[in-house]
Amino acid sequence: MLMARRSVHTLPAALAAKGLHDSVTLALLKPDLLASPHTVRNIVGEIQRTPGLRIVGRAGLFWTRAQAEAFYHEHSGRFFFRRLVAYMTSGPIEALALRGPRAVARWREMMGSTHPVRMRVANPACLRARYGLTDTRNSFHGSDSPASAARELAFVFGEQALREMAS
Ligand code: ADP
Repeated sequence: MLMARRSVHTLPAALAAKGLHDSVTLALLKPDLLASPHTVRNIVGEIQRTPGLRIVGRAGLFWTRAQAEAFYHEHSGRFFFRRLVAYMTSGPIEALALRGPRAVARWREMMGSTHPVRMRVANPACLRARYGLTDTRNSFHGSDSPASAARELAFVFGEQALREMAS
């Protein structure tokens, strides 16, 4: 267990050494989206049609409370934490591993920033502006750095799968 945890921390360095440090990222389609298979198909199609971004891993998740708390542990002291955990355990999640040049930053740009209502003014074309509901129920997740991407991809897909995606 401890060994596994230590090796997760070496993954960003391993990816950086291959020149891949920002070219794989984790995208999550959060539970509100999964209520509509048609919406999920549209979003996945939009990602597939995005030049330079490739889906290299896909998994359906249904998190327990402990898994949601672990994934978002850095927010555990925040006022919205309980609401966030309740949301992320309210239904299934679609996880996508995306690969391509600057995948971490590009997916964040496509998604838009945290607050959908603000995004409807600032960047109406972004995914959160189009699909997001509220500050918490904002429909998408994207890793915020190469190190987060490595940790989160390993959390969702496992370390071995991450190494294969990045090779
Ligand atoms: P992002 O997902 O945009 O990178 P954070 O990592 O800061 O944002 O927060 C994780 C998630 O917690 C957000 O996607 C959102 O669901 C929720 N959240 C963040 N900030 C707020 C807030 N001020 N009020 C309510 N929920 C929030």
